[in-house]
Amino acid sequence: MIGVLGSVNMDLVIEGVRLPQPGETVPGLSFARYPGGKGANQAVAAARLGAQVSFFGKIGNDQFGEELLKALRENGVDVSAVERESGSPSGIASIWVAQNGENAIVYVPGANAHVDPTYVNRILPMLSRAEILLIQLEIPLPAITYLLERLPKDGPVVILDPAPVQDISGLPLTRVDILTPNRGELSSLTGEKNVEKAGKKLLSRGVGQVICKAGAEGAFLIAKNGSRHFPGFHVDPVDTTAAGDAFNGALAVALTEGRSIEEAIIFANAAGALATTRKGAQPSLPYREEVAALMRRSAIHHG
Ligand code: ADP
Repeated sequence: MIGVLGSVNMDLVIEGVRLPQPGETVPGLSFARYPGGKGANQAVAAARLGAQVSFFGKIGNDQFGEELLKALRENGVDVSAVERESGSPSGIASIWVAQNGENAIVYVPGANAHVDPTYVNRILPMLSRAEILLIQLEIPLPAITYLLERLPKDGPVVILDPAPVQDISGLPLTRVDILTPNRGELSSLTGEKNVEKAGKKLLSRGVGQVICKAGAEGAFLIAKNGSRHFPGFHVDPVDTTAAGDAFNGALAVALTEGRSIEEAIIFANAAGALATTRKGAQPSLPYREEVAALMRRSAIHHG
């Protein structure tokens, strides 16, 4: 089982003729809501690729919460350990998009902010039984610290996505097997622009391996025994939202299937590339057959 401990929220997307100035009202063009949150996205990504996935997190006691659970269930994700936080709304992101493409976002974590050590303690036996655990930074750091300090040493492989980026120097990084920053996150975590040097800094702080997500360039693996570049797949990107989440979900799936880290990164590069070819977060997350087809096509191109 792949366990995901993380955020779940509703994206409220409002398209307007332009972004309003303070105090101004502008005509709106459309409104839609989409399930999101990095945790939920990574859970759906892994489930669509065929893995057994359990999501752990908190929703509010409200209508959005029920819709968020339904969306996870419809993708085959087990949500039996998700808790409803009374007195707190479900997380939402209010996203304004202008016709010229500019956007402005207000994110209200709501129930996600209540993922705390007490909750982690309740779900610890289940999390400990996972083969792989996916974690991101949209839930409070004390919950993550608590978990990493208590997970059995021979328990799940931990894949931590340091996004949105923040200071992780207080986390027990020796219990992080794989850290998956993108380029920007890698340099802000280390103050170092060079990918290999930055990755090595993180290894020296106790992380097992670093995989740097590098957009169209694919990904870099930085490990104790050396570094390697895995080129990206050729696609025509329309929206890179959730490409990183597709990558992390796919990485976990390939590793639970017993593939090597190198094979898993290639599979994850294909999933990430496909996610850029469709708009939105969860709608853009690819299914197994699509990833397999992209890998076959590019194998043909490369001879
Ligand atoms: P994030 O979404 O976390 O910012 P990236 O933009 O690096 O991270 O995208 C995650 C992964 O998605 C990349 O490592 C790569 O595998 C894939 N990807 C992203 N953009 C492209 C692209 N333009 N072409 C091919 N693959 C891409």
